[in-house]
Amino acid sequence: MAAPYAGLGACRVASAAPSLPVATVSRRKAPTDRMARAMPHESPMSPDPIPSRPSPETVAMIDRLVACPTTSRDSNLDLIHDIRDRLRALGVDRIRLTHDDDRRKANLFATVGPGGSGGLVLSGHTDVVPVEGQPWTHDPFRLLERDGRLYGRGTSDMKSFVAVVLARLPGILDRGLRSPLHLAFSYDEEIGCIGVRRLIADIVAAGVRPTACIVGEPTLMRPVVAHKGKHSWRCRVQGHAMHSAYAPQGVNAVEAACEVVAFLKAMQRRFRDQGPYAQDFDVPHTTVHTGVIRGGTQLNIVPHECVFDFEFRYLPGADPDALFEEVRRYAEEVLLPEMRRVHPAAGFAWETLSSIPGLDAPDGDPVVGLARSLSGLSDTGRVSYGTEAGLFQEVGIPSVICGPGSIEQAHKPDEWVSLEQVARCERFIDDLGVRLAA
Ligand SMILES: [Zn+2]
Repeated sequence: MAAPYAGLGACRVASAAPSLPVATVSRRKAPTDRMARAMPHESPMSPDPIPSRPSPETVAMIDRLVACPTTSRDSNLDLIHDIRDRLRALGVDRIRLTHDDDRRKANLFATVGPGGSGGLVLSGHTDVVPVEGQPWTHDPFRLLERDGRLYGRGTSDMKSFVAVVLARLPGILDRGLRSPLHLAFSYDEEIGCIGVRRLIADIVAAGVRPTACIVGEPTLMRPVVAHKGKHSWRCRVQGHAMHSAYAPQGVNAVEAACEVVAFLKAMQRRFRDQGPYAQDFDVPHTTVHTGVIRGGTQLNIVPHECVFDFEFRYLPGADPDALFEEVRRYAEEVLLPEMRRVHPAAGFAWETLSSIPGLDAPDGDPVVGLARSLSGLSDTGRVSYGTEAGLFQEVGIPSVICGPGSIEQAHKPDEWVSLEQVARCERFIDDLGVRLAA
């Protein structure tokens, strides 16, 4: 089904919305966010104070991107084609699109500057999480400015970063580049970093060998050098139905599933109480979580099936396969023999739902130094959520995460990013352009 808006016309109408006043430059305000206050910025590369708000071009670009409702389930092609056309108008002709199987979605990879290998990737995803069921107080796909903030779905996660890159690109091109600069905009990040895998496979196959990558997920413009890996599974428990008056002659799939879920909970307590720990992470140990469970039809039937989904978010260096093996062995070596004694068809079926490698950039890596220098921050962070950075790192492209806004605002109703954060990102990208200038 087509996206529920009339293509780019809708985006262009929205970008002319009168709710966004023309920018004025004023003195830099103190960051309002709790995390930002905790991390004072050192002098950024450029000696000029960072303005309290970004340029009107950047705000208009955020407006344009937010107005395209690229929820992961819908097509992102209008947005991708708009970006492609915009890049072409700037004279960028090295653009690669990689589509999903249905050709409803695409990644865009563009290279500007000189040819040859190497170069830096600026990476962002174009999809957003759904708004259904959330108590938004305004239209999530129409940018609203209020009290120094821009509200709208994707403002923090992560259309503002993409918009800053696009809006500042003309200035970077005017200055010229002495090494390639790559733009990587993906689909379906929010449902397991699905799309970017094709983008990465495509550039690897094409022999494009970037030397580093900056992923602009929301970090309050603080360089993040590590994140956890994530591996999620679906378990389908096969039981045997029976009138509940004869429960011992059936195999209760709900009860078997609950025993496995309880085992997972015990693992979670073990990691919490015994580690291993990595104190730099906001949640300093591996976590286990069961998020969905479905089983049974009515009380007087022994349920024949139960399905549940669970995940591990593991510290760099942990082995997700070993964690899974612990669960599988409990189910199949402790529980299953008893179930099979009642009915031979009883069993457990396991399916991987998603697998995102962790990120662990060495502190001395040049891209970490670059992000520190551009952000004006000497410290670096480690976060619990996964990003595409781990996948870039997996193919040998050292990666760091640094983008405007806070993950605390992501995925929530009335999502917002502060104008100060967007202005800070503008400075970051502008100074990067100066660094890369010919
Ligand atoms: Zn994101």
